[in-house]
Amino acid sequence: MPIDFFEKRLRDLECQGLLRTVKDKSTPQGPRIIIEGKELINFASNDYLGFASNELLKEASLSAISHYGTGAGASRLLGGGTELHKALEKRIASFKDTPKALLLNSGYIANVVSIACLMEEGDYIFSDELNHASIIDGCRLSRARVFIYSHKDTGHLEELLYSIKNEGGRRLIVTDSVFSMDGDIAPVPDLLRIAERYNALLYIDDAHATGVLGGGHGSLKHFGLSHRPYIIQMGTFSKALGSFGAFVAAEESIIDWLINKARGFIYSTCLPPSVVGASLKALELIEKDKSPIERLWKNRDLAIKIIKDAGLEIGPSETPIIPVLFKNIEDCLNFSSRLFDKGIYAPAIRPPTVQVPRLRFTITAAHSEEDLEHLHRAIKEIK
Ligand SMILES: *Cc1c(COP(=O)(O)O)cnc(C)c1O
Repeated sequence: MPIDFFEKRLRDLECQGLLRTVKDKSTPQGPRIIIEGKELINFASNDYLGFASNELLKEASLSAISHYGTGAGASRLLGGGTELHKALEKRIASFKDTPKALLLNSGYIANVVSIACLMEEGDYIFSDELNHASIIDGCRLSRARVFIYSHKDTGHLEELLYSIKNEGGRRLIVTDSVFSMDGDIAPVPDLLRIAERYNALLYIDDAHATGVLGGGHGSLKHFGLSHRPYIIQMGTFSKALGSFGAFVAAEESIIDWLINKARGFIYSTCLPPSVVGASLKALELIEKDKSPIERLWKNRDLAIKIIKDAGLEIGPSETPIIPVLFKNIEDCLNFSSRLFDKGIYAPAIRPPTVQVPRLRFTITAAHSEEDLEHLHRAIKEIK
């Protein structure tokens, strides 16, 4: 039977502790959720500002539906977009202080199609070894030659760039600004300097920086830097902004090139108005009021203290993503399932997503002090 293959492979995964299953909840996204009838404090969501169930975002979404309907009905080039799409692109360009911006249907798609169409055969891409899977896939699709540099190791990056200094073709350096499984921050100022020295494009994935770093504006602002013509910034509406979809912000020629060449933009129906309406509202909220971001960082600092005090060792986190590393998969799964029994949701992250198994706690502005105290007690009891 042709399906025997899959059954056997799935059994293999199960034996290795690597089988994944979907867990769905019966509540909105938020600090308290119900999964399979069990009430849990949620440390697994990237809804950093608690916007995913914000009343103003919901209203904006409903109002977009009542005016524009539910489905976009076509790709942007065929007229699926609305004035909301255009307004969101304008707003993103001004928020990121770039000449132009383009909406794409998800962060995953944005990375795959943008990188794939910015570079081509004969070009060179330099990618941090811990970059997101969507970046890896975009690099592969581009047919450029890919050099992987050691994590955040700008010396290694320069060595690699130097090693091909006499070759033709173009160069692109690509990095997550906040690494999604370790929560550390890329050395963005050094990357700018290196990109300038080697005449390279610099592609920055701000998925976990948008709404979190630099007053919400992202990693460049965090480091006191501003847009330069060779920088391409990607960000998502799906994490801190509580909505869905993604953007690329860059020079006009780069955005126009994507409009003409990016397959996931050209050959896919655009985001529905309800989603675009919510994203617009989210941007308006973080530009007007920084208190959710301040609450997020206050909670994050407290969580670091609490997790350390309870006796767990934290990875290299500099952001609300807090990894706790384990020597083996079994211990990691065990710890996660004992936390689950105590009402804490922090799923184990395993290979191939990461090399070292870990619990990845994400902290949000919506967590209360009691939520964090509950986490403290639960970890101490298990230890
Ligand atoms: C989540 C994530 C993406 C994908 O974004 P989606 O909108 O969820 O598709 C891309 N890059 C990084 C670094 C991410 O963490």
